[in-house]
Amino acid sequence: MTTLVIDIGGTKLAAALADSASNLTGRREIPTPASRTPQALQAALATLVAPLVSQAQRVAVASTGIIKQGVLTALNPDNLGGLSHFPLVDVLSRLTNLPCMAVNDAQAAAWAEYHALSADTTDMVFLTVSTGVGGGMVTGGKLLTGTEGLAGHFGHTLADPHGPRCGCGRTGCVEAMASGRGIARAANGDLAGCTAKQIFAHAAAGHPQAEELIQRSARVLARLIADIKVATDCQCVVLGGSVGLADGYLARVKAWLEEEPEICRVPLFRAKHQHDAGLLGAALLAQNRML
Ligand SMILES: [Zn+2]
Repeated sequence: MTTLVIDIGGTKLAAALADSASNLTGRREIPTPASRTPQALQAALATLVAPLVSQAQRVAVASTGIIKQGVLTALNPDNLGGLSHFPLVDVLSRLTNLPCMAVNDAQAAAWAEYHALSADTTDMVFLTVSTGVGGGMVTGGKLLTGTEGLAGHFGHTLADPHGPRCGCGRTGCVEAMASGRGIARAANGDLAGCTAKQIFAHAAAGHPQAEELIQRSARVLARLIADIKVATDCQCVVLGGSVGLADGYLARVKAWLEEEPEICRVPLFRAKHQHDAGLLGAALLAQNRML
């Protein structure tokens, strides 16, 4: 059974074919349409899958946003613009004439990272820190998606009631403070207008404000991880994303986690799959759910 796997992100759309052992071949990607309209996304998806679809028997999609009964909605409209309520599964079923399933991209990545852990792990949490903050949770060996597709959206838990307003409508979310966008937004003086990537480079060169901005993000994340440990009693937390995997970030988070009481600490690991985590997680979920 060959699965056409698709990853819908804020900046790119990726697709590949996955065999029954979840090996990915024929990987291709195109930019996410800048206009963020349903018509533009549908056309881009058609272009993306055209060379692959004839070789597949089913479709599995990992997408940014909340996936509720096959419909894509955006918790933070900044990430997807006008693509709230996009009928993802319907559109792809019609485009491909194949059975289709969809899941949130961070939930899919959590499932892929779970499979990379030792066999005695049954409970883990995956966190991705990049432009935003997302996550996914495996409990008792099962991926938790929730009744509304919302499970694992840790980026929208509270970090600071006096913190900045988040795109989701809440104030002081983890995402608003710890994400790449949050790091960049808090910069001022000679760092005003810098991207998170530039701020990391300044920190590596010893810039005090840059170091402070990254430490603030790492501290927010460590507190979130302590909350997660207390709430889920997971065996480990896996950290991914462009900020999560940036040089020295994990070590800073670990140092802040050491400040928490011992009962709140949990082993922290780097994510094993980077760009392909969504595609691989979708392939692995299709094996479980579409047999
Ligand atoms: Zn939020």
